[in-house]
Amino acid sequence: MKLPFAEPYKIKMVEPIRRNTRAEREKWIKQAKYNLFNLRSDQVFIDLLTDSGTGAMSDRQWSEMMIGDESYAGASSYFKMKNAIQEITGFTYFLPTHQGRAAENVLFSAMISEGDLIPGNSHFDTTKGHIEYRKAKAIDCTIDEAFDTSVDHPFKGDIDLIKLKAVLENNPKEKIPLIIITATCNSSGGQPVSMRNIKAVSEMAGQYGIPLFIDGARFAENAYFIKKKEDGYADAGIREIVREMFSVVDGMTMSSKKDAIVNMGGFIALNSETLFDKAKTYNILFEGYISYGGMSGRDMNALAQGLYEGTDFNYLDSRIRQVGYLGMKLREAGIPVQFPFGGHAIFVDAKRFLPHIPKEEYVAQTLAIELYIESGVRGVEIGTLLADRDPVTRENRYPILELLRLTIPRRVYTKNHMDYVAAGLINVFDRHLEIKKGFKIVKEAPILRHFTIELERL
Ligand SMILES: *Cc1c(COP(=O)(O)O)cnc(C)c1O
Repeated sequence: MKLPFAEPYKIKMVEPIRRNTRAEREKWIKQAKYNLFNLRSDQVFIDLLTDSGTGAMSDRQWSEMMIGDESYAGASSYFKMKNAIQEITGFTYFLPTHQGRAAENVLFSAMISEGDLIPGNSHFDTTKGHIEYRKAKAIDCTIDEAFDTSVDHPFKGDIDLIKLKAVLENNPKEKIPLIIITATCNSSGGQPVSMRNIKAVSEMAGQYGIPLFIDGARFAENAYFIKKKEDGYADAGIREIVREMFSVVDGMTMSSKKDAIVNMGGFIALNSETLFDKAKTYNILFEGYISYGGMSGRDMNALAQGLYEGTDFNYLDSRIRQVGYLGMKLREAGIPVQFPFGGHAIFVDAKRFLPHIPKEEYVAQTLAIELYIESGVRGVEIGTLLADRDPVTRENRYPILELLRLTIPRRVYTKNHMDYVAAGLINVFDRHLEIKKGFKIVKEAPILRHFTIELERL
């Protein structure tokens, strides 16, 4: 018998979670104004809201916490983090920030002005938020295949080179301060970007003299997919692939709450000394002195250790296989899910799940609420609420895909939990025609509205 895969770790500490009843959940979600962000975590049984900062640190990371150096300037923890970043990414300079969006805030303050255009594959919501806050525009040049959940394409995070070239060709160079590749591409389903595509974009960016950055929150998962799917990489090590990815770009922003498996932290890493000097000032202004930038010494230590663990093949293999296991269970039950499966989450195609609910009634949010009521599992809407309104017309922006994201925290849940989640969603699928109506908005913020939005049942 072929030995099955199993997690390359065992559990040393546990955290109790509590099951609840359907009646309780119906009451709580109503009190939460049908916004899953408003639920208290103890009202949730299995929390698949996000993989951001929700991972389980290892015993080694916890040991590193104990030997953190809390000196204001020049702490050994800063140098530990610097060495890890240099060794793993190859970039010369780095700035610590308290999380990924803070890295965006600092970098974009140094690079983006009003009226600029920032092309890339689908930008992450905070990235887009920081671009639009500066009255600049994020341009989505993702390949069309990414927007059809039934098309099998190994690298749905790839940038469409024709779309990108059109942006570069038709606009003055001064208006395009940088190109951003998000790897893996969260918004299109945790989909990877191929090495071939990264290199082709890099070449094009070079021809036009425009800096290229990677939003690298899930760079290690991206490298895993390159190893698994791209010709010529089967025998390459994860860290070797990571170095190759970063060798053809000018820098990166990082949410360490993802692939560095820490609860809080981020950084910018880059090669240009001029840009580093410029960004440094904003780092001091917004984040803290350049040798800690919003992080404590112990957190920088844990992050450094997490970067090594997060780029370990056996860890990545078990993580991504766990995500795939949930995807397979749903797919076998006939539930429409983004295929191939992404690295950190399973994305349920809500338009195909609830084809009778109009987009004006927030299809993916409706599905997320139904799954919570059915099972106590909290997923998250990646759809119209997340897409915000058009900054000029103030009309709802209806994205091509309405997705329910089931995001798997790193090293936290077991296979039984995955079975439970699948059963919950299958139950909703069995009664999907009984779900007759969606929701309407009663209160919303002007930007990043999904976090605080309030809804009412139609
Ligand atoms: C999470 C994330 C961010 C923002 O990072 P935070 O740590 O949440 O501020 C940016 N880009 C991508 C791709 C992300 O997944």
